[in-house]
Amino acid sequence: MRAWTSPEVPSLSALGLGGGDAPTVLDTAAGMPRRLDGEDEARLYVCGITPYDATHLGHAATYLAFDLLQRLWLDQGRSVNYTQNVTDVDDPLLERAAATGVDWVELAERETQLFREDMTALRMLAPRHYIGAVESIDLVVDLVGRLEEAGAVYRVDDDLYFDVHADAGFGAVSGFDADRMRAVFGERGGDPDRPGKRHPLDCLLWQAERPGEPAWDTSLGRGRPGWHIECAAIALAHLGSDFDVQGGGSDLVFPHHEMSASEAVVATGERFARAYVHAGMVGYEGEKMSKSKGNLVLVSQLRRDGHDPMAIRLALLTHRYRDDWEWFGSEIAEAEARLASWRAAAARSSAPAAAPVVEALRAALTDDLDAPTALSAVDAWAASDGDDATAPALASAAVDALLGVAL
Ligand code: ZN
Repeated sequence: MRAWTSPEVPSLSALGLGGGDAPTVLDTAAGMPRRLDGEDEARLYVCGITPYDATHLGHAATYLAFDLLQRLWLDQGRSVNYTQNVTDVDDPLLERAAATGVDWVELAERETQLFREDMTALRMLAPRHYIGAVESIDLVVDLVGRLEEAGAVYRVDDDLYFDVHADAGFGAVSGFDADRMRAVFGERGGDPDRPGKRHPLDCLLWQAERPGEPAWDTSLGRGRPGWHIECAAIALAHLGSDFDVQGGGSDLVFPHHEMSASEAVVATGERFARAYVHAGMVGYEGEKMSKSKGNLVLVSQLRRDGHDPMAIRLALLTHRYRDDWEWFGSEIAEAEARLASWRAAAARSSAPAAAPVVEALRAALTDDLDAPTALSAVDAWAASDGDDATAPALASAAVDALLGVAL
C-alpha cells in the first residue's frame, strides 16, 4: 500500500550540533524504562488504523509519540525501518460500511487517504512499509501454517483459534492477571464465552466466511484473517523477529499486543519485540473520545477550520505521550500563540546560542519522550535575547529535526 511523503529531517550533526544519545522509553512489558540502544538500523512497528474514522486526536497523539522516537534515532545517526499496517478488513469497518450503505472497500480507501493527508499535514515521518491486511493474506496464511506445525491451532466450527497456552510466556506483555485478561478480552472484541474453545482467552486466527462479508479462498478455507495475526504476520515479514519497539495506544496492550507477540513467539521460537511502548488515551472535555459518543475531534476538521497543522502538532506535544489526557478546545489557540512566538524568535537577526537549547531538547526527549519539557526549553530560548547571528537558523533546524515543527 502506498504511504505518504516524509518531510525532510535536517541533520543536526551536519550543522555542527553533534548527535544525540539513545532514547529511553517506558517499556510496558518490563514495567520500567528501557534504553533503546544499538548501532544498526532501528526497527519499529506501530499498529495502524482501521480505516473508518480517521484521524481523531487520539490517533494523532499516538503516531506523534512514535514520530518523536524515530527523530531521536535519526539524530543518533541510525536509520529506521518503520512499518505500519492498515486493518483494511475487520468487523468495525464492515459494520460501519453496512450501517452507512457504503462499499467497504471504498470506505477503507477514502479513510486511508484522509489519514495520509492528515499525517502529511502534521509532518509525520512515513513508514517504509505501509501494509494493508488485505494485501497480507498470504503472509497470514503462511504464519497460521507455522502455528499449525507447532500444534497451536484448533478449529471451532470452521474458524481457527490460537491456543494461547502454546506460549509459556503468555501474559508477559500486559502483566495482567487471569481475571483482568478475561474481562478486558470481552470488552475489546474477544469472545471468551464461545462454546467449543479450549480456553476463554484463545483468539481467532482465521474467521470462516460469514454471509454478506468479504472472504478469500485460501488453504485455511474461505474466510478472512483475525486482527492479532495480521500484525504479527506483517511485522515478522517486514521487520523480522526481535525488533526494537512494538508501539500503539494503551488500549492495544491487551489483547492485541499480547496475542500478536505470543503468536509470533510460538511460530518463530524467537522474541517478537524488545520493548512495548504505549501512548495514553485522549478524552474530550471530560469524556472518553469515542465514536459511540459522537465526540471525536478530527485532525481534518481542525484543518478545515483553518488551524495551522503545526499548531495542532504543538498542542499535542504539550501532553506527555504516555499520560491519559483530555482535549479542550482552548488548547489550539494556546498552541497558535506559542507557534507565533517561536516563528518570531526564529525570524530574528540574532538570538541566544543554539547549542544549549539543542542540548535541552535532546535531554528532554531522550528521557521517555518528555515533549512538554522540550517545549519549555524552546519557550525560554524564544523569550531571551542574544547576539548569536547563527542561532535562529540552528534552533529552527533543531525544532524541525527533533520536534517535527516547521517554523
Ligand atoms: Zn496491530
